Amino acid sequence: MCQREGLSLQRGMNFQANGRLSIILMSRRPNAPYNDSITDNGTTLIYEGHDEPKSKNSSTPKNVDQPEFLPSGRPTENGKFHRAAQDYKAKLREAEIVRVYEKLFSGVWSYNGRFHLVDSWTEHDGTRNVFKFKLHAIEDDARDEFEHSPELNHRRIIPTNVKLEVWKRDAGQCTKCGASDELHFDHIIPYSRGGTSVTAENVQLLCARHNLQKHDRIE
Ligand SMILES: [Zn+2]
Repeated sequence: MCQREGLSLQRGMNFQANGRLSIILMSRRPNAPYNDSITDNGTTLIYEGHDEPKSKNSSTPKNVDQPEFLPSGRPTENGKFHRAAQDYKAKLREAEIVRVYEKLFSGVWSYNGRFHLVDSWTEHDGTRNVFKFKLHAIEDDARDEFEHSPELNHRRIIPTNVKLEVWKRDAGQCTKCGASDELHFDHIIPYSRGGTSVTAENVQLLCARHNLQKHDRIE
């Protein structure tokens, strides 16, 4: 996944990384460090903000409010995404576009597509305050990298359990050529034509090349 972005992603949240689109990494694995969830029938991601880094002052990050600002007064990644979401709500800007990657298991990431960042807030998780970010999946993401309109209908995210089932069935390889890198989860019948995301039968693994070929053919 990092090849696609042209940078090495060490952090889970990357606001306008390299001056381009923002990127977040999510996980819904049982042992995931943050509580990310999919709601509204698969079209909306609620993403949890990130803790202050483990550090010198020996505090336990999970017991401390997630920070909005660094000691220097500059915003953290939480703070940058929060500012963008609040400015969008105040109609001061367009919705920030965010690429979302999901960790399926160790070393295997899936691209969940682009999302609009539409809201943010803090809430108490029982121990401390955490940031929450609301993102809507952008429909027909593959069609046009640069066109974006909040009026578009929302694309559905393939559920994690379906991805895991497809990954196992297709043995972690492109179903056309057997390549095992740059893999994408492809709807056999596109969602826009009534294909479903919720069963493995309509989803297959394709490498980047075969994924692009298929989209070219549909166009
Ligand atoms: Zn292939």
